[in-house]
Formats: sequence, C-alpha cells, structure tokens
Amino acid sequence: MARKTKKTSQEFEYKAEMKQMLHLIIHSLYTNKEIFLRELISNASDALNRIRFRMLTDKDVLDADAELCIRIKVDKDKHILSISDSGAGMTREDLIERIGTVASSGTLEFVKQLQDQGSQINAEMIGQFGVGFYSVFMVTDEVVLETRAADKDSQAYRWKSDGGGKFTIEEIEKAERGTTISFKLKKEAWEFAEDYRVKHIINKYSNFVDFPVYIGEEKANTVEALWHKPKDDIKEEDLNEFYKFISNDYQEPLAHLQLNLEGAVNFKALLFIPGTAPLTFYRNPDDFDSVHLYSNKIFIQDNCKELLPEYLRFFKGVVDTEDLPLNVSREVTQSSPVMAKIKNTLTSKILAFLKDLGKKEPEKFEKFSKNFGPLFKSGVNSDFNNRDKIIELLRFESTKTEPGKSISLKEYVRRMGEEQKEIYFISGDHREALEKNPKLEYFKKNDIEVLLLSEPIDVFIVPSINEYDKKALKSIDKADLDLSADNSKDSGEELNEDLAKSLIEVFKETLGDKVEDVVASKRLVGSAVTLVSGKDGMDSQMEKMMKMMNQGFSGSKRILEVNLRHGVIKNLSRLNLAGSTDPLLRKTILQLYESAELLEGNLQSPNDFVARMTELLQEATKA
Ligand code: ADP
Repeated sequence: MARKTKKTSQEFEYKAEMKQMLHLIIHSLYTNKEIFLRELISNASDALNRIRFRMLTDKDVLDADAELCIRIKVDKDKHILSISDSGAGMTREDLIERIGTVASSGTLEFVKQLQDQGSQINAEMIGQFGVGFYSVFMVTDEVVLETRAADKDSQAYRWKSDGGGKFTIEEIEKAERGTTISFKLKKEAWEFAEDYRVKHIINKYSNFVDFPVYIGEEKANTVEALWHKPKDDIKEEDLNEFYKFISNDYQEPLAHLQLNLEGAVNFKALLFIPGTAPLTFYRNPDDFDSVHLYSNKIFIQDNCKELLPEYLRFFKGVVDTEDLPLNVSREVTQSSPVMAKIKNTLTSKILAFLKDLGKKEPEKFEKFSKNFGPLFKSGVNSDFNNRDKIIELLRFESTKTEPGKSISLKEYVRRMGEEQKEIYFISGDHREALEKNPKLEYFKKNDIEVLLLSEPIDVFIVPSINEYDKKALKSIDKADLDLSADNSKDSGEELNEDLAKSLIEVFKETLGDKVEDVVASKRLVGSAVTLVSGKDGMDSQMEKMMKMMNQGFSGSKRILEVNLRHGVIKNLSRLNLAGSTDPLLRKTILQLYESAELLEGNLQSPNDFVARMTELLQEATKA
C-alpha cells in the first residue's frame, strides 16, 4: 500500500550540464523524431528486465503476478500518448539521480565538440549518450512520469518537467508497480497519435523487445529470441534490426557470428562486430555495452565482463546459456566455473571466426582491424594461451602497402627476398613522417619491405613478439642490424678509412656524453646522419611513449650513425684536415646531431638549434 502522507510538490533545478544537454537535444538535433518512442520503450524494457531478474530470487515484491509488458495508449483527438510498463519502477532517489543527470561525465563536452567540428548530431545517436529519455522533448513541451518501485511498501511519485531548467516531484497514490510516461504531442508531432504510425515505429525499432508491447488491446511486436532460431531461418534484415536494437547503433554491423554449442558447455550466442567504433569507444571504454548475458532466454546482465577477455570487448550481442543455476545472481556470474568455460570457448570461436573473415572477406577484416585493432592487438600481451592465433590476425601498414591498407606477418614473410633473414619495422606517429625517415633509405634502395607502425599500441606489442616463423622482428631504429646488401652502388665514393676514423673522433669529442657512440652508417643513402638505439636500448618511439607516461623516465643514450658518402661529411673531413678545432666544423657537427633529434621529435633545445642555424646561414651567405 502506498503511504497516505501527502506532501506538496517539490521543485528541483537541473544541473548546469544537464540544462545545456537538454537545450542541445531540443534545439540542435538533426531530427529523426520517431526515435523518442524507441528510447522510451527501451527504458521500459530495461525496467522489466530488472524486475524479472529480481524475481528469480525474490518473489516478495509488489504485483508479483502482474504480466510483464508495455502498454501504449494513443488518444488521437487529444494528441496524448502514454507508455506504461510493469517494470521495476523508480524511487525518489532514482528520479533525482537517474532522470535528472547526464549519466557519463564528459558527455556534454563531447557532444559539443562534435557540434563545433560541424558534425551533424543525429537524433539516432542519442541512445549512445545515455540521455535517451530526454528525446521525448523533441515531440512535447511537458512530460509527466508516474512511477512506483517494486518494494511492497514503496511510495509512488509524479515527476514533471517542461524540459527547461526545472523538474518537480510529488508523492501520489498509485496502486501498481511500474512507470507510466504521458505527454501531449506538439502540433508538428501529431502524427505520433496515430495507431498505425506507432505500430510502424515499434516494428522498425522495437520488434525484439523481450516483452509484449500492446497498443490498446493489440500486441504490436513479435516477441522472439532470435538467437534461438536456426541459422538458416534468420534473414539478414532481421540480424541487422536485431543488432541495431541491442546496440543503440544506427548503422549496420560489419559482421556477425552465431553459435549453438552443446557438450561440455552449452550456450547459444549471437555476436556482432560494429560497423565503426562508437564515438566514445576509446574515450570511455568502460561505458561500451558489450555482451548481454541471458539464462534460458531470461535477461540476466548487460555488458557482462566475465564473458569475453578485454581485448575482444568490441563485440556486441547476446550469450544465452542453460548451464547457470536458476537463481542466478550477479555474484554467481562473477565466480561461476560455467562462465569461465563459456569465456574460453567463446574466445577460441571468435578467433577462428576472425581468421575466417580475414580469408573470405579481407575488406571487412581490414575495416575491423582499423576500427578495433588498437584494442584487439593488446591481446598479444594479455592472452598467452591464444597468443599465436592473435599474432596471425595482426595487420600492419608497410612501405609496400598503399596508405590505409595493411598486411599480416605471414604475407610479409611470403614476400621477403631469399637473402632477407629478419622482419623489419619502424615506429612513429604517422605514416607520412615515417616514410621520410632517413633510416628507411637503405631499405628502399634495396627493395626491402619495412612495416610502418603508427598506432601507439604497436610499440608495446611488436617488440614483444620477438620472432615470427623463425625470423626475428627488428626495429630499424636499432644499431645491430644485419645490413649485408651492398649499399655502395651509385652512392658515390666513401671517405677513406683514415680520414673517416679521424673525423668520427672529432664527432665523438664534440658530442661528448650526448651520445653513446658515433659510427659509420651502412643504412643511409641520401641523409648525412641518423640516430639509432644501441643493441639493448629501446626503440625510439617506445622510449617516447615511456617518457610521456612516466616523467622520471630518462631513457638511454643513442648512437649517431654518419654517412661517409655524403657531401657535407666529406666537406667536414676537409675542414678537419685543415684543423680539428675549426669552430665551423664543431658547429656543423652539433647542428647535424640536433637535426637528427628534431626528425625524431626529440629536439631538446629549439632555441639553440635555431640560433646555431642562423650563424651557419650567415657563414654560408658571406660574400
Ligand atoms: P539510459 O537509459 O541510457 O540510462 P535514459 O536517460 O534513457 O538513459 O534513462 C535514465 C535512467 O532513468 C535509466 O537508466 C533508468 O534508471 C531510469 N528510467 C528511465 N525510464 C525508466 C522506466 N520506464 N522505468 C524505470 N526506470 C527508468
């Protein structure tokens, strides 16, 4: 029974962030107004799932026997729409905390950023931002929500808002559990007071709601668990609609995988790779709603983290098992050995599926790799049981792929020349900069392919692979490369040994402890110098990342390689012959060293660099 205490209505102000969000929704959404109905039905369905889940273990709730359903009433003449559910309802705190706030922090800034960039904010995106309820203000000026939570002694409330700055809450009498949302449609939205229009929207977006949706007395949806149907009976269209329904995505999925496993572990699964990474995927990975867990067609939990290893959590979909106990609770899903078994089986099935996708639909695989590679690749270092399989699925751009296209290590090895013993890679911020790196000169000249690693994750995983198909993976940033191909052809005369030795001594003296060593280079063709790491040193990109993450990290010293065929080096040798203390000689050496630092994005003092360059220019332009 509802308590009889009657208080007057209390007024609340939305937080500033919410107000701005509301303003945005009402005024700036590129509108597809019908979305509001999908959002309200989806909220009702969530509330029904919550009460059904609670009743698995606790039948002592208000209206324990009520039908779990959604009822929509349409008053065509008065243009009033109401949507009721017999779900879990809301307490006063829920109304204040959940309805009055933007769920995920930073959402507003993110939406604004999108807008500033000139992106059209599509109403269909609203579900992704966790403010779906407010889409109702696209079609009405005032919403009344009446709700009563499931505890037998709960109080019922009426919440009201015009979508401006405020909302009110008052205590009311309401006998049944659940929530009713009602509102008068704005004139331009009168179409939604037509039965056929509402039915059409339900068929389009809400056909997969797990509970009956009634319009008047008529059931408007076909309640079915799609993943229980045999593969051949499911149409592509149904799959796409189902995906959109469970994912809040408005685009089609990239690919899907359906499983029906019986034996040591029993479960059915219907999983999808999204067409693109959702806008907030890499920003708030924890908000990404991955796989839903069902037990015998009953919804147990959304975003069930126990079902998939982290590096596969870009999949969306459902897993339904008969193996969990009937009174399953969250604690059970966290500790059950059944869950661990499902996770193992799912992981190997997914990896096999991805392998297949790579073979049969390389273009789709490429898309997957581009969108979700940054997460997927981390599996190399976190899932040791499947490491080899994951490595086969990695894709990288290379000096021989077009920008945006990538290859596997297998493909790389297949195209290697006979005399090539190692797999080469170079890492940096983006492809264009990498392609101009002097260290590539030798490889270009000798037609040797080099992998171009430009994703931050790459520097953490690739060096850890060590070997593929018995070939070592080597950063061409390292000094100990086996560069046996002849580099002397058409690159001019090299300095003779004595002159070279003497000049390198001057380099060492001038640079002092800025470098670990100075050596003659085998890899440079058109550039005068480059910096590389010692045998045990880190790859330069890796070192840069470490410095970014850890302020105290100082890194190791680098080795300067000098191109003994280069004009400027030969000039320096001449100056050296005349006198090794010539200031021009010393200045040029420092300038060359800092140019190499600059190219790596590691220049310590741009001021000194520019001042010295100006001096050198003055020298060079002397009449
Ligand atoms: P989201 O559904 O993404 O969390 P919404 O703005 O649509 O964002 O809803 C906010 C919250 O309000 C929901 O998470 C839920 O807790 C609550 N809510 C909305 N509608 C209902 C309903 N019909 N029954 C119970 N709770 C609801």
